[in-house]
Amino acid sequence: MAKKDMIVNAIENGTVIDRIPASKSLMIVRLLGLEDDETCSVAIAVRVKSNKIGLKDVLKIQGRNLSPDEVAALGLIAPGVTLVTVRDYEVVSKTEVEIPNEVEGILRCINPTCATNFREPVVPSFQITTKKPLLLRCNFCDRVMLEENVLAQFI
Ligand SMILES: [Zn+2]
Repeated sequence: MAKKDMIVNAIENGTVIDRIPASKSLMIVRLLGLEDDETCSVAIAVRVKSNKIGLKDVLKIQGRNLSPDEVAALGLIAPGVTLVTVRDYEVVSKTEVEIPNEVEGILRCINPTCATNFREPVVPSFQITTKKPLLLRCNFCDRVMLEENVLAQFI
């Protein structure tokens, strides 16, 4: 087995997130709430040599798949990562995560008086108005958020 395949194939069931820009893996851990999720095991490889992108991080999550909302949020903080679903040690799907058109839940609105920040049942949601530079608009209060506002939520 080639060395690069070991990283992808070492889990039985779950998710591998590959080609993460170096040092963004911990943001993804926080985005997915993996620190507090006792149902899964997580392996983090930091600054792995990659022919394509120089140094990269790799996240292996045993026993957990990502919801569509989580994939969308992942596309905001680390577009271009490779999302691999593994079942019985086999890769069943492999996709490149793109910047979504909208995202629901996970992110918080930066407007402290936004309804999503003080009325519990209201799930925050945002439209992505431009991708380069990244701009999001809150569906509840119309506040515009920048990429740095998004990244700051997971540092
Ligand atoms: Zn808002």
